Amino acid sequence: MKTAIKRIIPFIIAAAAACMFFSVFFVYLLAIAYPPYTLYQHEQYLASDNLDGRFVGTAGIFEAEEYIAGQFARAGIDPLPGDDDFYQEFTLQRFGFDRGKTSCSITGKPGSFTISLGENYRPLPFSDEGAAAGPLVFAGYGITSKDDNWDDYNGIDIKGKIAVVFRGEPKTVFSGTRPSRHSFFQTKAKNAHSHGAAGLIIITTPFNNDRGEDFRLDERYFLPGAVVSPRKPVPNRSFPSIQISTNLADKFFSSMGTTIDKCIRELDNKTPASEFILKDFSADIQVSMLEQPENMTARNVAGFLPGNDPELKNEWIVVGAHHDHLGSYDGTGDTIFNGADDNASGTAGVIELARYFAPRQNELKRSMVFVTFSAEEVWLHGSAAFLEKELPAGVKIAAMCNLDMIGRNPDGPLEIIRRTPLPHFTKIVNEAQAKTGQFIYYYSLDSDYFSDDMSFVKKKIPTLFFFSGTHEDYHTVDDESDRILYNVFYKRIEYIKEIIRLLARENLFD
Ligand SMILES: [Zn+2]
Repeated sequence: MKTAIKRIIPFIIAAAAACMFFSVFFVYLLAIAYPPYTLYQHEQYLASDNLDGRFVGTAGIFEAEEYIAGQFARAGIDPLPGDDDFYQEFTLQRFGFDRGKTSCSITGKPGSFTISLGENYRPLPFSDEGAAAGPLVFAGYGITSKDDNWDDYNGIDIKGKIAVVFRGEPKTVFSGTRPSRHSFFQTKAKNAHSHGAAGLIIITTPFNNDRGEDFRLDERYFLPGAVVSPRKPVPNRSFPSIQISTNLADKFFSSMGTTIDKCIRELDNKTPASEFILKDFSADIQVSMLEQPENMTARNVAGFLPGNDPELKNEWIVVGAHHDHLGSYDGTGDTIFNGADDNASGTAGVIELARYFAPRQNELKRSMVFVTFSAEEVWLHGSAAFLEKELPAGVKIAAMCNLDMIGRNPDGPLEIIRRTPLPHFTKIVNEAQAKTGQFIYYYSLDSDYFSDDMSFVKKKIPTLFFFSGTHEDYHTVDDESDRILYNVFYKRIEYIKEIIRLLARENLFD
């Protein structure tokens, strides 16, 4: 008897192992086919650190575009009629500071410092072009306000010198709920200039920025042919204003036998700025703007699913989301703007909708365009470039759905913003709501919140903009995937599916 049991043990083990293998395999198959899981995967991939914040013109956004095109191909949708692939290239022109002709050097104890553009200094967006050289003088917060009985320049000779000031304002004096105008960089620049300074250096402190310092240049992008008014230089004036890193500024304060924190506390307790004497430091600053714009290439990714009604197929429904975000910068700690909600969420949504509708083409009378836009964050250029392309003869865009930030605020409604009220759209929104039982908030907004739907509004195309509201991580490095609530996010996609199904079938206009 015992030997018989011994003989069957290996078979039992083998059978158990086989069972386990097949059940794990089955769960795996279920998981990859299950829509919430695929939505999760797309969002996680697009918001991963590997893609480096998906800034226009970078390797990271290139990878994102390859991924989206790959997903469109797998879903089984086609490129747009007349296109060979899913990419829609367009040129952007970059205006702004000239990297090659903008420089700064600082000398002082102990010796001169390496200071490099984009890493520990940058010209402030409003800086004048031109040169400034001279000794550095510390001037507290750089604020003069008679009303508040505060003057950082009191007892300081700043003529022909470069003012070094802190960002912000003393909370002990300016105690409103919002920062006063005296804390604005431009107010500080004007004040330094009117006191006769030759230039301005602003320092961020741990009290007004705990997220690290982003020293990338302020840049402006345009589609070629756009009417661009070049910045006019201010006559007889060149007042460069730059921001330097806290690390670099530490050297100034240690030479004065203090620290940034200590100095701020003393200033806030009304020790005059003139008591902090910065000796033997000087700077040589040169700020230049680009004379000619630099060209760069960007790409939208667009796929097509033809409708099955002989007439209505010429009316396209565009479902779009921007895939670009703010990139990353050089520095320590977290320096990547992952843009998990803004807008890996909307992009993942567009992929998921393409996957869902590709095998359900028979439900669509109108044709569908699934598109992800580049260059939204640098002023909606991707959607504008998309609309510049000529449509095939007889085709018009009947409606556009924009998905931008739909993965956060799980207790709040899915907001649907209309820019122009249309009775048929209201009916559709309500019908989808009744069918899915979703918590929605449908309302009108003129221009307070900009996203790609605005490019369509300009062309008089009816739009619906899906959005789950802003939050404290908006446009910060903390907009990360672990803050997305995937079950709620997926429910919102289910609702948008209903909307699209209705838009692609129902009477929209008469
Ligand atoms: Zn966005």
